[in-house]
Amino acid sequence: PEILLEIKDLKTHFFLHEGIVRAVDGVNLTVPAGKTICVVGESGCGKSIMARSILRLIERPGRIVGGELLWSGQSRGGGTVEQRNPDDQGAKRPGTVDLATLDASSEELRNIRGAQIAMVFQEPMASLSPMYTVGNQLTEAIRLHLPMSPREARQRGLQLLEHVGIPRASRIMESYPFQLSGGMCQRVMIAIALSCGPQLLIADEPTTALDVTTQARIIDLLRDLQDETGMAMMFITHDLGVVAEVADEVVVMYLGTVVEQGNVDDLFHDPQHPYTKALLRSIPKMGSGRREALATIRGQVPHPQNRPAGCPFHPRCDYAMPGLCDQVEPPLVKLGPRRVSRCVLHDRALMASHGVSAT
Ligand code: SF4
Ligand code: MG
Repeated sequence: PEILLEIKDLKTHFFLHEGIVRAVDGVNLTVPAGKTICVVGESGCGKSIMARSILRLIERPGRIVGGELLWSGQSRGGGTVEQRNPDDQGAKRPGTVDLATLDASSEELRNIRGAQIAMVFQEPMASLSPMYTVGNQLTEAIRLHLPMSPREARQRGLQLLEHVGIPRASRIMESYPFQLSGGMCQRVMIAIALSCGPQLLIADEPTTALDVTTQARIIDLLRDLQDETGMAMMFITHDLGVVAEVADEVVVMYLGTVVEQGNVDDLFHDPQHPYTKALLRSIPKMGSGRREALATIRGQVPHPQNRPAGCPFHPRCDYAMPGLCDQVEPPLVKLGPRRVSRCVLHDRALMASHGVSAT
Protein backbone atom coordinates (compact mmCIF):
# COMPACT_ATOMS: atom_id res chain seq x y z
CA PRO A 1 0.00 0.00 0.00
CA GLU A 2 1.00 3.58 -0.60
CA ILE A 3 2.40 5.05 2.62
CA LEU A 4 1.10 8.49 3.44
CA LEU A 5 2.95 9.07 6.68
CA GLU A 6 6.00 7.33 8.02
CA ILE A 7 7.15 8.07 11.53
CA LYS A 8 10.72 7.03 12.20
CA ASP A 9 12.16 6.92 15.68
CA LEU A 10 10.25 10.02 16.81
CA LYS A 11 11.31 11.45 20.15
CA THR A 12 9.42 14.25 21.86
CA HIS A 13 10.74 15.15 25.29
CA PHE A 14 9.65 17.65 27.93
CA PHE A 15 12.37 19.55 29.74
CA LEU A 16 11.04 20.19 33.23
CA HIS A 17 12.76 21.49 36.35
CA GLU A 18 12.48 18.06 37.89
CA GLY A 19 14.03 16.34 34.92
CA ILE A 20 13.36 15.18 31.39
CA VAL A 21 10.09 13.45 30.57
CA ARG A 22 10.58 11.25 27.51
CA ALA A 23 6.88 11.31 26.57
CA VAL A 24 7.53 9.96 23.08
CA ASP A 25 10.73 7.99 22.98
CA GLY A 26 11.30 6.24 19.71
CA VAL A 27 7.99 5.82 17.90
CA ASN A 28 7.98 3.98 14.59
CA LEU A 29 4.78 3.57 12.61
CA THR A 30 3.33 3.95 9.13
CA VAL A 31 -0.05 5.18 7.95
CA PRO A 32 -1.17 3.80 4.57
CA ALA A 33 -3.31 6.03 2.34
CA GLY A 34 -7.05 5.60 2.79
CA LYS A 35 -6.84 3.32 5.85
CA THR A 36 -7.81 3.79 9.47
CA ILE A 37 -5.14 3.07 11.99
CA CYS A 38 -6.02 3.07 15.65
CA VAL A 39 -3.42 4.00 18.21
CA VAL A 40 -4.12 2.37 21.56
CA GLY A 41 -2.50 2.28 24.96
CA GLU A 42 -3.20 3.21 28.55
CA SER A 43 -3.31 6.92 29.36
CA GLY A 44 0.13 8.47 29.63
CA CYS A 45 1.64 6.22 26.94
CA GLY A 46 2.34 9.21 24.68
CA LYS A 47 -0.46 8.77 22.13
CA SER A 48 -1.60 12.39 22.20
CA ILE A 49 1.91 13.84 22.30
CA MET A 50 2.83 11.68 19.30
CA ALA A 51 -0.25 12.93 17.41
CA ARG A 52 0.38 16.56 18.29
CA SER A 53 4.00 16.16 17.23
CA ILE A 54 2.88 15.27 13.70
CA LEU A 55 1.23 18.68 13.35
CA ARG A 56 4.02 20.37 15.31
CA LEU A 57 1.64 21.44 18.04
CA ILE A 58 4.11 20.75 20.85
CA GLU A 59 4.83 23.75 22.99
CA ARG A 60 7.65 24.46 25.37
CA PRO A 61 8.97 22.92 27.54
CA GLY A 62 8.27 20.12 25.04
CA ARG A 63 10.36 19.64 21.92
CA ILE A 64 10.89 17.10 19.16
CA VAL A 65 14.45 15.99 19.84
CA GLY A 66 14.84 13.31 17.21
CA GLY A 67 13.36 11.29 14.41
CA GLU A 68 11.52 11.91 11.18
CA LEU A 69 7.90 12.60 10.22
CA LEU A 70 7.86 11.75 6.54
CA TRP A 71 4.72 13.08 4.89
CA SER A 72 3.87 12.19 1.28
CA GLY A 73 0.49 13.89 0.98
CA GLN A 74 -0.76 16.77 -1.08
CA SER A 75 -3.65 19.22 -1.10
CA ARG A 76 -6.84 17.97 -2.62
CA GLY A 77 -8.62 21.28 -2.37
CA GLY A 78 -11.71 20.06 -0.58
CA GLY A 79 -13.89 19.79 -3.66
CA THR A 80 -13.27 23.13 -5.31
CA VAL A 81 -14.15 23.49 -8.99
CA GLU A 82 -10.53 23.10 -10.06
CA GLN A 83 -10.23 19.91 -8.09
CA ARG A 84 -13.20 18.33 -9.83
CA ASN A 85 -11.47 18.76 -13.18
CA PRO A 86 -10.47 15.19 -14.07
CA ASP A 87 -7.25 16.43 -15.69
CA ASP A 88 -6.07 17.40 -12.24
CA GLN A 89 -6.49 13.97 -10.72
CA GLY A 90 -3.15 13.03 -9.27
CA ALA A 91 -1.53 15.68 -11.43
CA LYS A 92 1.29 16.86 -9.25
CA ARG A 93 2.73 14.75 -6.55
CA PRO A 94 5.37 16.66 -4.70
CA GLY A 95 8.00 14.63 -2.91
CA THR A 96 8.07 13.62 0.68
CA VAL A 97 8.55 16.30 3.30
CA ASP A 98 9.90 15.77 6.81
CA LEU A 99 7.43 17.62 9.03
CA ALA A 100 9.86 17.38 11.94
CA THR A 101 12.33 19.71 10.23
CA LEU A 102 9.87 22.39 9.11
CA ASP A 103 9.84 25.66 10.95
CA ALA A 104 6.79 25.54 13.24
CA SER A 105 5.60 28.90 11.90
CA SER A 106 6.50 28.28 8.24
CA GLU A 107 4.02 28.76 5.44
CA GLU A 108 4.67 25.22 4.23
CA LEU A 109 3.53 23.83 7.56
CA ARG A 110 0.50 26.12 7.66
CA ASN A 111 -0.50 24.86 4.22
CA ILE A 112 -0.22 21.25 5.30
CA ARG A 113 -2.13 21.82 8.54
CA GLY A 114 -5.81 21.78 7.82
CA ALA A 115 -5.54 21.32 4.07
CA GLN A 116 -3.65 18.00 4.09
CA ILE A 117 -3.66 16.85 7.70
CA ALA A 118 -6.48 17.87 10.01
CA MET A 119 -7.12 17.06 13.64
CA VAL A 120 -10.07 16.77 15.97
CA PHE A 121 -9.56 16.73 19.70
CA GLN A 122 -11.18 15.30 22.78
CA GLU A 123 -12.74 18.54 23.97
CA PRO A 124 -14.65 20.05 21.06
CA MET A 125 -15.77 23.01 23.15
CA ALA A 126 -12.19 23.95 23.96
CA SER A 127 -11.18 23.88 20.28
CA LEU A 128 -13.85 26.39 19.24
CA SER A 129 -13.64 30.04 20.11
CA PRO A 130 -16.44 31.16 22.43
CA MET A 131 -16.34 34.63 20.85
CA TYR A 132 -17.44 33.79 17.31
CA THR A 133 -20.39 32.04 15.74
CA VAL A 134 -20.03 28.58 14.27
CA GLY A 135 -20.56 30.13 10.84
CA ASN A 136 -17.72 32.60 11.34
CA GLN A 137 -15.30 29.90 12.42
CA LEU A 138 -16.29 27.50 9.70
CA THR A 139 -16.10 30.00 6.83
CA GLU A 140 -12.80 31.32 8.15
CA ALA A 141 -11.32 27.82 8.20
CA ILE A 142 -12.50 27.27 4.63
CA ARG A 143 -11.12 30.57 3.33
CA LEU A 144 -7.78 29.97 5.01
CA HIS A 145 -6.99 27.30 2.43
CA LEU A 146 -9.46 27.71 -0.42
CA PRO A 147 -9.83 30.70 -2.69
CA MET A 148 -13.51 31.44 -2.03
CA SER A 149 -15.56 34.55 -1.46
CA PRO A 150 -17.27 34.82 1.96
CA ARG A 151 -20.52 33.93 0.27
CA GLU A 152 -19.16 30.80 -1.44
CA ALA A 153 -17.47 29.76 1.80
CA ARG A 154 -20.75 30.13 3.67
CA GLN A 155 -22.48 28.01 1.07
CA ARG A 156 -19.82 25.34 1.42
CA GLY A 157 -20.04 25.62 5.21
CA LEU A 158 -23.76 24.90 5.10
CA GLN A 159 -23.16 21.85 2.91
CA LEU A 160 -20.50 20.58 5.28
CA LEU A 161 -22.74 20.97 8.33
CA GLU A 162 -25.49 19.03 6.59
CA HIS A 163 -22.93 16.46 5.56
CA VAL A 164 -21.94 15.82 9.18
CA GLY A 165 -25.56 15.31 10.10
CA ILE A 166 -26.47 18.71 11.53
CA PRO A 167 -30.13 19.57 10.95
CA ARG A 168 -31.16 23.19 10.37
CA ALA A 169 -27.61 24.07 9.46
CA SER A 170 -28.34 27.73 8.78
CA ARG A 171 -29.54 28.19 12.34
CA ILE A 172 -26.45 26.46 13.72
CA MET A 173 -24.30 28.80 11.62
CA GLU A 174 -25.61 31.72 13.69
CA SER A 175 -25.06 29.93 17.02
CA TYR A 176 -22.21 30.32 19.46
CA PRO A 177 -20.47 27.13 20.65
CA PHE A 178 -21.88 27.41 24.21
CA GLN A 179 -25.38 27.18 22.76
CA LEU A 180 -24.65 23.71 21.36
CA SER A 181 -24.38 20.26 22.95
CA GLY A 182 -21.02 18.50 23.11
CA GLY A 183 -22.01 16.12 20.31
CA MET A 184 -23.09 19.03 18.12
CA CYS A 185 -19.80 20.85 18.82
CA GLN A 186 -17.87 17.74 17.83
CA ARG A 187 -19.82 17.56 14.56
CA VAL A 188 -18.92 21.20 13.91
CA MET A 189 -15.25 20.42 14.63
CA ILE A 190 -15.40 17.49 12.22
CA ALA A 191 -16.96 19.75 9.57
CA ILE A 192 -14.13 22.25 10.07
CA ALA A 193 -11.54 19.46 9.95
CA LEU A 194 -12.98 18.13 6.69
CA SER A 195 -13.52 21.53 5.08
CA CYS A 196 -10.36 21.40 3.02
CA GLY A 197 -10.42 17.73 2.09
CA PRO A 198 -7.50 16.46 4.17
CA GLN A 199 -5.80 13.21 3.23
CA LEU A 200 -5.24 12.37 6.86
CA LEU A 201 -7.59 13.06 9.75
CA ILE A 202 -6.11 12.64 13.21
CA ALA A 203 -8.83 12.09 15.81
CA ASP A 204 -7.58 12.17 19.40
CA GLU A 205 -10.16 10.48 21.64
CA PRO A 206 -12.88 12.39 19.77
CA THR A 207 -15.72 10.80 21.69
CA THR A 208 -14.33 10.45 25.20
CA ALA A 209 -16.08 13.59 26.48
CA LEU A 210 -19.47 12.57 25.07
CA ASP A 211 -22.28 10.37 26.36
CA VAL A 212 -22.45 6.79 25.10
CA THR A 213 -25.19 7.29 22.48
CA THR A 214 -23.49 10.36 21.04
CA GLN A 215 -20.17 8.50 21.03
CA ALA A 216 -21.61 5.77 18.84
CA ARG A 217 -23.10 8.31 16.44
CA ILE A 218 -19.87 10.25 16.08
CA ILE A 219 -17.93 7.05 15.44
CA ASP A 220 -20.43 6.02 12.76
CA LEU A 221 -20.12 9.46 11.22
CA LEU A 222 -16.33 9.32 11.11
CA ARG A 223 -16.45 5.86 9.61
CA ASP A 224 -18.88 6.94 6.90
CA LEU A 225 -16.88 10.05 6.10
CA GLN A 226 -13.69 8.02 5.87
CA ASP A 227 -15.37 5.59 3.45
CA GLU A 228 -16.78 8.36 1.36
CA THR A 229 -13.72 10.60 1.08
CA GLY A 230 -11.02 7.94 1.05
CA MET A 231 -8.98 9.91 3.55
CA ALA A 232 -6.73 8.07 5.96
CA MET A 233 -7.56 8.29 9.63
CA MET A 234 -5.40 8.02 12.71
CA PHE A 235 -7.80 7.29 15.52
CA ILE A 236 -6.42 7.58 19.02
CA THR A 237 -8.34 5.78 21.74
CA HIS A 238 -8.02 3.67 24.86
CA ASP A 239 -11.25 1.87 24.00
CA LEU A 240 -10.61 -1.50 22.34
CA GLY A 241 -14.30 -1.80 21.44
CA VAL A 242 -13.93 1.28 19.26
CA VAL A 243 -10.77 -0.19 17.75
CA ALA A 244 -12.58 -3.38 16.74
CA GLU A 245 -15.21 -1.26 15.07
CA VAL A 246 -13.14 1.22 13.07
CA ALA A 247 -9.56 0.00 12.63
CA ASP A 248 -7.88 -1.49 9.58
CA GLU A 249 -4.62 -1.56 11.49
CA VAL A 250 -3.70 -1.14 15.14
CA VAL A 251 -0.68 0.46 16.73
CA VAL A 252 -0.11 -0.39 20.39
CA MET A 253 1.91 2.08 22.43
CA TYR A 254 3.52 1.67 25.82
CA LEU A 255 5.52 4.34 27.64
CA GLY A 256 6.40 6.39 24.60
CA THR A 257 7.19 3.58 22.17
CA VAL A 258 5.29 1.41 19.73
CA VAL A 259 5.31 -2.17 20.94
CA GLU A 260 3.22 -3.71 18.17
CA GLN A 261 1.59 -2.77 14.86
CA GLY A 262 -0.54 -5.03 12.71
CA ASN A 263 -3.75 -5.68 10.87
CA VAL A 264 -6.72 -5.49 13.26
CA ASP A 265 -7.80 -9.12 12.82
CA ASP A 266 -4.29 -10.53 13.22
CA LEU A 267 -3.64 -8.36 16.21
CA PHE A 268 -6.88 -9.25 18.00
CA HIS A 269 -6.72 -12.97 17.23
CA ASP A 270 -3.01 -13.53 17.43
CA PRO A 271 -1.36 -10.81 19.52
CA GLN A 272 2.42 -11.12 19.54
CA HIS A 273 3.61 -8.69 22.16
CA PRO A 274 3.07 -9.53 25.85
CA TYR A 275 1.61 -6.07 26.47
CA THR A 276 -0.92 -6.49 23.64
CA LYS A 277 -1.84 -9.89 25.06
CA ALA A 278 -2.38 -8.36 28.49
CA LEU A 279 -4.43 -5.48 27.07
CA LEU A 280 -6.70 -7.87 25.19
CA ARG A 281 -7.12 -10.05 28.27
CA SER A 282 -8.28 -6.96 30.15
CA ILE A 283 -11.45 -6.59 28.07
CA PRO A 284 -14.51 -8.84 28.00
CA LYS A 285 -14.60 -11.20 25.03
CA MET A 286 -15.83 -9.31 22.02
CA GLY A 287 -19.42 -10.13 21.23
CA SER A 288 -19.78 -12.52 24.17
CA GLY A 289 -22.64 -10.34 25.32
CA ARG A 290 -21.62 -11.03 28.90
CA ARG A 291 -20.37 -8.36 31.25
CA GLU A 292 -17.32 -10.07 32.62
CA ALA A 293 -15.20 -8.52 35.29
CA LEU A 294 -12.30 -6.68 33.74
CA ALA A 295 -8.98 -8.31 34.39
CA THR A 296 -6.43 -5.58 34.84
CA ILE A 297 -2.81 -5.64 33.92
CA ARG A 298 -0.83 -6.07 37.09
CA GLY A 299 1.22 -3.16 38.34
CA GLN A 300 0.89 0.41 37.15
CA VAL A 301 2.22 2.37 34.23
CA PRO A 302 5.40 3.98 35.57
CA HIS A 303 5.70 7.74 35.18
CA PRO A 304 7.63 8.44 31.94
CA GLN A 305 10.24 10.15 34.08
CA ASN A 306 10.98 6.81 35.73
CA ARG A 307 11.06 4.72 32.62
CA PRO A 308 12.44 1.29 33.54
CA ALA A 309 15.72 0.27 31.93
CA GLY A 310 15.70 -2.38 29.22
CA CYS A 311 12.20 -3.22 28.08
CA PRO A 312 9.93 -0.57 29.64
CA PHE A 313 7.24 -3.21 30.16
CA HIS A 314 9.43 -5.66 32.10
CA PRO A 315 8.16 -4.89 35.64
CA ARG A 316 4.64 -5.87 34.54
CA CYS A 317 5.41 -8.57 32.01
CA ASP A 318 4.49 -12.22 32.64
CA TYR A 319 7.26 -13.35 30.27
CA ALA A 320 10.05 -11.11 31.58
CA MET A 321 13.47 -12.77 31.70
CA PRO A 322 15.75 -11.39 34.42
CA GLY A 323 19.17 -10.43 33.17
CA LEU A 324 17.82 -9.78 29.72
CA CYS A 325 14.56 -7.82 29.73
CA ASP A 326 15.71 -5.47 32.47
CA GLN A 327 18.91 -4.70 30.58
CA VAL A 328 18.42 -4.84 26.84
CA GLU A 329 16.11 -2.52 24.91
CA PRO A 330 14.20 -4.93 22.70
CA PRO A 331 14.44 -4.32 18.97
CA LEU A 332 11.38 -3.76 16.78
CA VAL A 333 11.14 -7.07 14.91
CA LYS A 334 9.38 -7.39 11.57
CA LEU A 335 7.09 -10.42 11.71
CA GLY A 336 5.24 -9.95 8.43
CA PRO A 337 4.64 -7.49 5.60
CA ARG A 338 2.88 -5.01 7.89
CA ARG A 339 3.44 -6.59 11.29
CA VAL A 340 6.01 -5.61 13.89
CA SER A 341 6.53 -6.33 17.57
CA ARG A 342 9.12 -5.06 20.04
CA CYS A 343 10.06 -7.95 22.28
CA VAL A 344 13.19 -10.04 22.83
CA LEU A 345 11.09 -13.20 22.48
CA HIS A 346 11.10 -12.60 18.72
CA ASP A 347 14.87 -12.47 18.58
CA ARG A 348 16.32 -15.93 19.27
CA ALA A 349 19.86 -14.82 18.61
CA LEU A 350 19.57 -12.09 21.21
CA MET A 351 18.12 -14.55 23.71
CA ALA A 352 20.82 -17.10 23.02
CA SER A 353 23.53 -14.50 23.50
CA HIS A 354 22.13 -13.93 26.99
CA GLY A 355 22.02 -17.62 27.74
CA VAL A 356 18.24 -17.86 27.45
CA SER A 357 16.79 -20.42 25.11
CA ALA A 358 13.52 -20.05 23.30
CA THR A 359 10.84 -22.44 24.47
FE1 SF4 B 1 8.24 -8.99 28.27
FE2 SF4 B 1 10.86 -9.14 27.91
FE3 SF4 B 1 9.26 -9.02 25.80
FE4 SF4 B 1 9.59 -6.87 27.37
S1 SF4 B 1 11.14 -7.86 26.11
S2 SF4 B 1 7.69 -7.63 26.57
S3 SF4 B 1 9.77 -7.84 29.37
S4 SF4 B 1 9.39 -10.66 27.34
MG1 MG C 1 -4.57 11.55 25.43
